[in-house]
This record gives sequence, structure tokens and C-alpha cells, in this order.
Amino acid sequence: MPDCLFCRIARGDVAANIAYRDDELVAFHDINPQAPIHLLVIPIRHIESLLQLQEGDHALVGRLYALAARLATDLGVAESGFRVIINTNRDAGQTVPHLHLHLMGGRTMSWPPG
Ligand code: AMP
Ligand code: ZN
Repeated sequence: MPDCLFCRIARGDVAANIAYRDDELVAFHDINPQAPIHLLVIPIRHIESLLQLQEGDHALVGRLYALAARLATDLGVAESGFRVIINTNRDAGQTVPHLHLHLMGGRTMSWPPG
């Protein structure tokens, strides 16, 4: 998926404010933050959404969540609280077809989400 926006960010072809990178995952600040802390955590490998996960991807998804928790801690919102969201398809508002986890914190959030 060479044209996918998040693949291009993961490759470094599109600039982003990168907070973390390793050989499987990249985390970067959302360009249109909806909270004081709003990062996206993605697998480098192109996976369109949760619906395309295969059994071999389960450890990778675990790493996505573990990284979100670590970044929440590093960025100082672990104790106050944070939210982790994966939007899937139209009704949930998924606009970029590359699996990504939103990490949001730094303000009080309402429930349920709109
Ligand atoms: P979603 O609507 O769940 O697919 O989330 C996509 C997110 O990507 C939105 O919150 C956008 O603000 C964010 N986004 C889009 N383009 C960029 C970009 N170039 N760099 C960082 N975040 C982006
Ligand atoms: Zn992609």
C-alpha cells in the first residue's frame, strides 16, 4: 500500500511529529488534536483495520496497546486518565484505512463518545 498516508509517515516520506519508533510500531502526534495529548500508534506494516487482523497479528496488537500505556505514562496523563480508541469503518469515523490507535488525554472526556 505505498500510497497509504500512514505507510508514508511510517517510511518517513511524509513528515510527522514522531514520538516513538521501533521495527514494528510508530507513534506520532495527531495533526488535528482533539485533546491536549493526542497521538496515533500504528503498526508499520499496512493493516487496513481491525477487520483485517490475522491470528499472527495478535501479539502486534498487544504491543500497540502496551505502547499507548507507556506513552501515556511518559507524557504524564497516566494518573489523570486517558482514552484509547480504534475507529473502524464509516459509522465510527475511520478516515485513514491503516490501523491506528488514538491515545487521548489531558482533559476530561464525556461518555459515551459522540
Ligand atoms: P480516524 O478518523 O480514526 O481514521 O483517524 C485519523 C486521524 O489521522 C485523524 O485524527 C487525523 O487528524 C489524523 N491525521 C490525518 N492526517 C495526518 C497527518 N498527516 N499527520 C498526523 N495525523 C494525521
Ligand atoms: Zn498503510
